Amino acid sequence: MTLRLPQLIAGEFAQSESEHWIAVTDPATQQVLCEAPAATPDEIERAVASARAAFERWREVPVSERARLMMRYQALLKAHQEEIAVGLSRETGKTFEDAKGDVWRGIEVVEQAANVASLMMGETLENVARGIDTHAWTQPLGVCAGITPFNFPAMIPLWMFPLAIACGNAFVLKPSEQDPMTPNRLAELFLEAGAPPDLLQVIHGGREQVDALLTHPQIAAVSFVGSVAVGQHVYRTATDHLKRAQCFAGAKNHMVVMPDAAPTQVVNALVGSACGAAGQRCMAISVAVFVGSARECIEPLTAAFAELRPGAWDDPDAAYGPQISPQAKARILDLIARGKAEGATCRLDGSDCQVDGLPDGNWVGPTLFTEVTPQMAIYREEIFGPVLCCVCVDTLDAAIALVNASPYGNGTSIFTASGAAARRYQQRVEVGQVGINVPIPVPLPFFSFTGWKGSFYGDQHAYGKQAVRFYTETKTVTSRWFEEEAVAGPNLSIRLE
Ligand code: NAD
Repeated sequence: MTLRLPQLIAGEFAQSESEHWIAVTDPATQQVLCEAPAATPDEIERAVASARAAFERWREVPVSERARLMMRYQALLKAHQEEIAVGLSRETGKTFEDAKGDVWRGIEVVEQAANVASLMMGETLENVARGIDTHAWTQPLGVCAGITPFNFPAMIPLWMFPLAIACGNAFVLKPSEQDPMTPNRLAELFLEAGAPPDLLQVIHGGREQVDALLTHPQIAAVSFVGSVAVGQHVYRTATDHLKRAQCFAGAKNHMVVMPDAAPTQVVNALVGSACGAAGQRCMAISVAVFVGSARECIEPLTAAFAELRPGAWDDPDAAYGPQISPQAKARILDLIARGKAEGATCRLDGSDCQVDGLPDGNWVGPTLFTEVTPQMAIYREEIFGPVLCCVCVDTLDAAIALVNASPYGNGTSIFTASGAAARRYQQRVEVGQVGINVPIPVPLPFFSFTGWKGSFYGDQHAYGKQAVRFYTETKTVTSRWFEEEAVAGPNLSIRLE
């Protein structure tokens, strides 16, 4: 009998009453690992109501106690890191090393959440007018919701609920239906760490369940991470219902290679950042822009790509795993075919990739295109597979103009030995996260994750440092404390005196 995944509602992991169940498969074999429910309207209602009641109690809990919960949770996650990573590898296909990294990047955010007291401190100023003082408090919002993608089933839920809860909120998580077992395990450990059982609710499903959260009057704020089309839908719907919303969306990240860059570093960086996690990262490099003679790197790069071999999560020689689903693979193969039809040169084609002993896996081999133009679908669309498009330009300014013309702005990098070129790039490029000789410049959570343009909809870059701003509201209190009755008479102007 197939395992049916429970949901965490009102403090209990329980089976859903749903009639609709979604199969969760091992992407290397198509074996069904479990089924996740599409939560019923009644279950969503109970989850939100229970979270709201939890919030009323939790907001009164001292901040140091909230921080200590995060310390215990951090320790538990560390102790269970490998076990979580095994489950994560099985449902995503990620290599074990990559899966451990996924968990670790989440643990780092929990560490940030344990630091919540200093992050939530307000501001004060005495004598803003005679005898009048003002102080600004940072207060929680209520019930926040999180909607997460398949590609980081540990890190991205951990971007959200620990910080939101540390700030004093309650949280409803709707993880990706493609790999929901890891988020369930994170929730189990959260309870084991001593969290009040109804503070975090986990419901499962897809569009219908997301829409129910986006339109629910008791949800104060929505965090979303996922594709562009869904991100736009979530942002529009949530803000249409007057909620605070932050939506981290898709990307097309460029790496600019200057003629003075070290060729070995360039090749290593492009191999890892284009093909790592089978290209299923929002910060993956999917376009390499070679300036002038840097195009000489294309030969050794093609050779290095040809060496890469995907494989099962527990194969230590596998460079990366399968795509998440047969549909994702079919979409990538379609884009590769369109690239060829539109006139790009496919120097390495991973469309017919096979892995010994795993004939049913969603394998795509490393793929490299040259002679790519910005009009082609392979350049315009996020492929989310191990596919690199190479473009050649003559100058750094031409490279900057190309990158800035992209509708996305998640990540970019420049490889160069020139401080002047690096400085010009970091200053002029219209992308939120810039690497200089670093291919995937994701900041640690004491900074914020800062995608720009079509890679982010919202007005707060609210993971890491800024998350406290997203999950709280500032309240300014202006006060006057009389030592004795000393008001001369009514003040009829709006000025404080
Ligand atoms: P997705 O948009 O298909 O799904 C994300 C979430 O939205 C899931 O929980 C899913 O159930 C839900 N969803 C799907 N369709 C929906 C609909 N029509 N209405 C409402 N909700 C819906 O994304 P994915 O394929 O799981 O993840 C990959 C995408 O996420 C890529 O585009 C990648 O770039 C992006 N991503 C962005 C970041 C970032 O920080 N910018 C990080 C990771 C992933």
